[in-house]
Amino acid sequence: MTDNNKNKLPEISTSQPLIEVKGLKKSFMLKDKSTLDVLKGIDYTVNSGDKIVIVGPSGGGKSTFLRCLNMLEIPTEGKIYFEGKDITDRHCNLNRVRARMCMVFQHFNLFPHKTILQNITLAPVKLKIKTKAETEEKARELLKRIGLPEKADAYPSQLSGGQKQRVAIARALAMEPDVILFDEPTSALDPEMVGEVLDLIKQLASAGMTMVCVTHEMNFAKNVSNRIFYMDEGVIYEDGTPQQIFENPQKEKTRRFIKQLKVLSEVIDKNSFDFPAINSKLEEFGRKQMMSQKQIYKMQLAFEELVMQKLIGENQVRDIRMDVEYSEKDGTVDMIFGYGGDKFDPLGDEKELTVITLRGITNSISHKYDGNENVLVLKI
Ligand code: ADP
Ligand code: MG
Repeated sequence: MTDNNKNKLPEISTSQPLIEVKGLKKSFMLKDKSTLDVLKGIDYTVNSGDKIVIVGPSGGGKSTFLRCLNMLEIPTEGKIYFEGKDITDRHCNLNRVRARMCMVFQHFNLFPHKTILQNITLAPVKLKIKTKAETEEKARELLKRIGLPEKADAYPSQLSGGQKQRVAIARALAMEPDVILFDEPTSALDPEMVGEVLDLIKQLASAGMTMVCVTHEMNFAKNVSNRIFYMDEGVIYEDGTPQQIFENPQKEKTRRFIKQLKVLSEVIDKNSFDFPAINSKLEEFGRKQMMSQKQIYKMQLAFEELVMQKLIGENQVRDIRMDVEYSEKDGTVDMIFGYGGDKFDPLGDEKELTVITLRGITNSISHKYDGNENVLVLKI
């Protein structure tokens, strides 16, 4: 800090426009010479200190938007100002911009033939951000911070997915950027590794890092972000605080999308259903909703006892529809099973072992039959 700045009041970081996007459009020319309009006009300002989460259906233009922000894709129309400077100007030094605005990708993009330390130091050394010795020292510090000090000389292939992604984040941090762009940083990871990566991103957020993050991890989004964009069909279709978007979205499409993040729906066809797959879907769903391990286990056990033992095993029901819905208000999960055929209440015999088990792990079970369909609701 120079002497001139010393007596200044600290700046309120949240009011500084860091990135300004004006009328951003992006079209791709396809092989058959037709054009695909992917971004159809985006105006937005990212302030310093913002933690923005982008959600939305696949193909809606989220990755393209992030890639345009740091000019990995050249916008077809519109302007992007970074720290007041027009980075769509062809004279702009993009290497410098990308050093200040780093991207973390879904598939890590580490260099396979370089060590972890080299992966982290490569860009800062090349861009002469610091001397080689300083950069290495910083890299070792970062490896400590991400909990991998012993991996400096390892190669990416020797690391788990979660570790690789943490290294990719350390690589971004080595540039000492002003903002990090995350494109679905956990969606290529095995479920058990998601937490360690989200925890690291949370730490960065609390340390004040500005970030724009595409993710469908709702609880992470709620805890970390100050702003959510719902992106669909190439526009920011709705934006608001996490409460507004997750609890009270104004537009029907947003509502439908958010609801689908909160519900797990499966159709179980007796002839082709894959028990382990459903079990891991239940696990993943439970984890996303931040349910306890015990509650997840109960849900899996209820599924196994009810569907395997009773509905498929005994009653030979063919198609079963299952909706699992988590209520944050009271922390309970509803497992709703719908199946056709005659009236069949699988809990008819209270002395049966399966029924005793099901009663033991649920708060309540109700059965209804409307002459056509059986509906069974388990509260856990
Ligand atoms: P999202 O990240 O929301 O899933 P993307 O930004 O990846 O969406 O993609 C939006 C649309 O743009 C998709 O239809 C995709 O096929 C298309 N697209 C993305 N990149 C290119 C490209 N380089 N060339 C042609 N089409 C592309
Ligand atoms: Mg994408």
